[in-house]
Amino acid sequence: MITAVALGDGVGAGFTGRAGGVSGPPFDSLNLGGAVGDDPAAVLDNRRRAAAALGADPERTVFMRQVHGAEVAFASSTDLPGPVDAVVTTVPGLALAVLVADCAPVLLADPAAGVVGAAHSGRPGTAAGVVPALVKAMCERGADPARMAAAIGPAACGRCYEVPAEMRDEVAATVPAAYATTSKGTPGLDIRAGVAEQLASAGVTRVTADGRCTIEDPGLYSYRRDGRTGRFAGYVWLKEGT
Ligand SMILES: [Zn+2]
Repeated sequence: MITAVALGDGVGAGFTGRAGGVSGPPFDSLNLGGAVGDDPAAVLDNRRRAAAALGADPERTVFMRQVHGAEVAFASSTDLPGPVDAVVTTVPGLALAVLVADCAPVLLADPAAGVVGAAHSGRPGTAAGVVPALVKAMCERGADPARMAAAIGPAACGRCYEVPAEMRDEVAATVPAAYATTSKGTPGLDIRAGVAEQLASAGVTRVTADGRCTIEDPGLYSYRRDGRTGRFAGYVWLKEGT
């Protein structure tokens, strides 16, 4: 149900999957997305189950209204000022969640500074630099890229993520590592490689990537594969009392 990620002492982090929830098809079963047409009561139940499995507080989890941009918000409570694709906090116990189904969920932490962040980096967000913007916002709160650890979660892989040639060129112009060719020999994008390149450029060298492809792995939600479907999530938070 949960893949825990180690981002340092005093930091909790992990990625959810499809199993262990209460939603029916096509959202079965641990859908955490509130804007995909699923029963709100089921989503609420799933969010409680996911938080319990992770060890996070479901009443103190920040869900963004994601719009494929590069805006970053600072969260001091679960209320955000508006739509954003990245969020930062220094508040212990406040969990940051990023919802995805093919886009890359990116989790960052500087445990020594007590700063954590989460970003939603799909094609437009990666091209717009949402992850570099998140690193910068964390630095403004006292974090140092040299101390940061990052986790890139499951996403559509470069062998599966087919795009028109112009779109590949457009993204690769700013993020060269995202340039990919699919298993069919057609133009593709490798978002994870693009995000890894952006993190390296920002000075973040402790980076782990979950190699699972959302399109290939039936244990994950994929918008590309299924269209109407749910969302899984990445969570990161500062543990209280550490
Ligand atoms: Zn794939």
